[in-house]
Amino acid sequence: MDITIHNAILDKTLNPVNIGIRGGKIAVISEGEIPPGARSIDAGGAMASPPFIDSHFHLENAYLDQVPNLSGTLDEAIDIYAEIKQKLDTPDIVRRTIRVAREAIANGTLWMRSHVDIDHIGKLRLLESVLAAREAVKGYFDVQVIAFPQMGLARNPEAIEYMWAALESGADVVGGMPHSEKDMDDAAKQIEIVFEIAKKYNRDIDMHVDETDDPYWHSLELLAEKTIDEGYQGRVSAGHCCAMGSWDDTLAERVIEKVKKADLNIIGNIPINLYLEGRHDSHPFRRGIPRLRDLVEAGVNVALGQDDVRNMFYPFGKLDMLEVANFAAHAAQLSTPSQIQATFDMPRYNAARTLRIQDYGIREGLPANLILIDAQSPTDAIRRQPERRLVIRQGEILLESKRQLTYSSIIPA
Ligand SMILES: [Zn+2]
Repeated sequence: MDITIHNAILDKTLNPVNIGIRGGKIAVISEGEIPPGARSIDAGGAMASPPFIDSHFHLENAYLDQVPNLSGTLDEAIDIYAEIKQKLDTPDIVRRTIRVAREAIANGTLWMRSHVDIDHIGKLRLLESVLAAREAVKGYFDVQVIAFPQMGLARNPEAIEYMWAALESGADVVGGMPHSEKDMDDAAKQIEIVFEIAKKYNRDIDMHVDETDDPYWHSLELLAEKTIDEGYQGRVSAGHCCAMGSWDDTLAERVIEKVKKADLNIIGNIPINLYLEGRHDSHPFRRGIPRLRDLVEAGVNVALGQDDVRNMFYPFGKLDMLEVANFAAHAAQLSTPSQIQATFDMPRYNAARTLRIQDYGIREGLPANLILIDAQSPTDAIRRQPERRLVIRQGEILLESKRQLTYSSIIPA
């Protein structure tokens, strides 16, 4: 064996096991002893888990915190960013993406979906920079790039041609933001355009949906209906979905039923939405928290995203999906043992289904992508967010404890 890991517990069963890795694959998982490999690692009872996946992020504006967002609202953040984004250049985006990758890898995250702004002003400039950044971290950190028309399409029809061009130029997934349009009718038009592009290129769809605490917005329902009509089940994701926290139960039940039927993936970006939503002058106010517990109970696939780190949208974040899971468990009150297990699975197995990552998990014969978390159970992992002691990608050790950044020679600082 190239690497053997002794005295670990498996993430799902919590059974003690020894794991052997050969030729980039998990060759053996045994409850009995296995002979030490060329590299032999004592897990000391830590949990072996497949790596984390951040299902929703924005690489090009990570760590851009030079202009404070004084109102703390999404609207002010979008205004600040509109100013700054014209000045961003490729070397800077590459540098900050490398920083994101290093921090994410140190926390055991190896995959990410990143939305990149496409509009009629910036055109494809940011996409080109993010594609260069993706190339810079390739082989260690996998990025799926989503073409994201943040300024709307029905309202800015001149942006539509750049969405088509983005797909020609290397974007992987078609994004959208129906609530950036003026009303639900225009939201339907945007969804129509997004499906037209996605179908032409046979691509998945991943939209920012109802990112507001205003219950007027229920474009999630339109997205679910369109997904069913187009036979696109399993290929469409909806991030944020904050307005559902403000809907009455009748509307919520109706839409969640359609979401399940459409097999939509829901991506909760709970920390940023807890921070941004519900900024009103007087109490009582709505908090814009999606109904994750109802979605889980309905059998909907729920994943999680960090969305932003240290910028005009969100001044915090440490690119640790266990921290994001902790926020989700609190805000959405995921509390029974099965709900906590579901929360732990959101940035792992559920996210793998969202990003359609093949061969994800810890089983004999699968690619050796695994991490060691110094935790005894899902609750323990989410509670303490303990150190990731080992990060292995395709049989290669990227990190052995945060004090030993073995990948620092691979991805330069
Ligand atoms: Zn976002």
